[in-house]
Amino acid sequence: MSNFVWCHGPGCHKSHTQDRIRGVKGSKVLRTKKVQQTTYNSGERLSMYSYFCSQGCYNDFANTYVREVIAIAPRTEALETPIEVTKEQVQYGWRDGTYTNTRITTVDNNGG
Ligand SMILES: [Zn+2]
Repeated sequence: MSNFVWCHGPGCHKSHTQDRIRGVKGSKVLRTKKVQQTTYNSGERLSMYSYFCSQGCYNDFANTYVREVIAIAPRTEALETPIEVTKEQVQYGWRDGTYTNTRITTVDNNGG
């Protein structure tokens, strides 16, 4: 079964790797890589690796289209997560060494 999409990296076809070489002598090209759709990157597991052959191609896409990507869900104000901060002295080893451990606990204000 050959279920695939072409890598969406804008420069995927410019990377000098042997697995991108196609064509016969005299008319060879570097071709965009295929991204196989498997149980590991499709359906419930859909992710960036469903559309990009590598982290580099994903970064190229995100950097090229950052304005369009941000326009999908613009952040116009900061979000906040209610927390409680507790400090505790923790002893370690067999000597008198202690360190201060800072514990951050998320507070559920919705009565949960
Ligand atoms: Zn790619």
